[in-house]
Amino acid sequence: MASLAPGQSRPAAPSAAATYDAVIIGAGFAGLYQLLTLRDKLGLKARVLEAGDGVGGTWYWNRYPGARCDSESYYYSYSFSDEVQQEWSWSERYPEHGEIRRYLNFVADKFDLKRDIQFNTRVASAEYDAAANLWRLRTEAGESLSARFLITAVGCLSSANIPNIAGLERFSGQWYHTGRWPQEGVDFTGKRVGLIGTGSTGIQAAPVIAAQAAHLTVFQRTANYSIPARNGPVGPEELREIKANYAAIREKARGSTNGHPFDIAEDSPLDLDEPARLARYEAAWERGGLRFRAAFRDLLTNKAANDTASDFIRAKIRTIVRDPRVAEMLTPKDHPFATKRPPIDTEYFETFNRDNVTLVDIKATPIESITPTGIRTSEAEYPLDIIVFATGFDAMTGPLLAIDIRGRDGLSLREAWSAGPRTYLGLQVAGFPNMFTITGPGSPSVLTNMPVAIEQHVDWITACIGHMRRQGLQRIEARPEAAERWVAHVNEAANATLLPLANSSWYLGANVPGKPRVFMPYAGGMANYARRCAEVAANDYEGFVLAR
Ligand code: NAP
Repeated sequence: MASLAPGQSRPAAPSAAATYDAVIIGAGFAGLYQLLTLRDKLGLKARVLEAGDGVGGTWYWNRYPGARCDSESYYYSYSFSDEVQQEWSWSERYPEHGEIRRYLNFVADKFDLKRDIQFNTRVASAEYDAAANLWRLRTEAGESLSARFLITAVGCLSSANIPNIAGLERFSGQWYHTGRWPQEGVDFTGKRVGLIGTGSTGIQAAPVIAAQAAHLTVFQRTANYSIPARNGPVGPEELREIKANYAAIREKARGSTNGHPFDIAEDSPLDLDEPARLARYEAAWERGGLRFRAAFRDLLTNKAANDTASDFIRAKIRTIVRDPRVAEMLTPKDHPFATKRPPIDTEYFETFNRDNVTLVDIKATPIESITPTGIRTSEAEYPLDIIVFATGFDAMTGPLLAIDIRGRDGLSLREAWSAGPRTYLGLQVAGFPNMFTITGPGSPSVLTNMPVAIEQHVDWITACIGHMRRQGLQRIEARPEAAERWVAHVNEAANATLLPLANSSWYLGANVPGKPRVFMPYAGGMANYARRCAEVAANDYEGFVLAR
């Protein structure tokens, strides 16, 4: 069995068919906080099942070179405990994956959570037993558990998308997916490395790999926009100020569109003359980070406004990249800025000025196969020792559908979602009583700073279960008609933005062959969404059936 992380205690394995009030799947940000609230606030018997051998969720698996958060550390963190906020000190503006794991271990140890987390346990199936009003779970190791409530905290980006490229099994070198990175790391020294994928992950990894490898070949299907992160240490003065102002910072994040504690400008780039507009963009570029999107109010709703931002970034790419042919290949043309999740970077475009880096346009010259010694495109063969797949995830629905989840009358979640995910508020699926999906499809989730969305969901679920226990209620289930109305509203919210214009976005499921194209997250804004959830609860959980 794998060794324990510092401070980790090994929980006893449950006896056959152990019964819990709640089983939570996943021990990332969501699962840890959900365990804490159910166990310590409501006094429930709760257990977390976690596939990894430590806490961390996405940060447990994503240890690829350059992996760090692209929301800023001081607000990519829990807000529920002022003690945690005051005791923990972030070292960098954008925390690196190891620092986030240390933070989550600190939280888990502080609240003694690990005794109720069963590590190295992957859930194979979960079936609702209507007669007993219980969820019956089986793990891949064959253990059985049952619980009144099933809460999925599986993350939105945890099911790796490994493209089906002919010949991979014959490759004689090593290959890795960034979302399943070996804990011991990978040494690129002296190696010829091929990197497939130029999303947030590939864009973070490329500069770090290039600095170590003998040669890096980047296989790009779609050119991407990226904003400089401007990472750096957080100084003691800044840290003091953040800690002194946490209440206001959190309030601002919760009241925002996307969970970030900063203001979005109130004007449009179309209101300004060109010098003033460019000056605004320059300042935003210099400050760096996802906040670039807040330079104007309508970058995601008005195509003409967005064009000014897209053109600004295209011009930056042409300035940074010395070879005009390479700069042209790196210039995004087929989607407006930020309609795919925008990456932020540390010297990504500069990396293509290095002598040991080659860019291959695989839209123009597609990959035909992986050979024993490298990658063959329609034009050339690239000899490689290591292939890195930064090819993303079967997002949002993938991690849920990887478990055989069955609701009433044996209806599988896969069947229920055959035309795309259908939820009520992203919290429940009709036909799946007492199952809650933290940051499920149909909730703001990935369009926000995740801890804000997670805390809102966990608090809502906890309040709901608390209400049920006080009222002697045993079952809660979304009404199909409420779910239908919510799905229509989710579509409406997406269509009010430019987001659906990016054809190959994972928001739409378009990156996974055969996946239904449905805009999955809720684009109506975090604060609006939280208000709606609160109204639903206040109106006696309208849209849900509650039963004894
Ligand atoms: P992604 O955004 O889905 O990007 C995957 C890349 O792989 C794209 O360039 C895609 O090309 C390419 N690709 C996919 N299948 C391919 C195939 N069969 N052949 C060739 N290329 C293929 O995935 P990601 O970069 O892992 O990022 C996913 C999300 O994770 C991000 O959007 C972000 O929300 C999150 N993330 C966050 C951080 C952070 O906080 N620091 C870091 C990394 C990721 P196409 O564009 O043509 O599909």
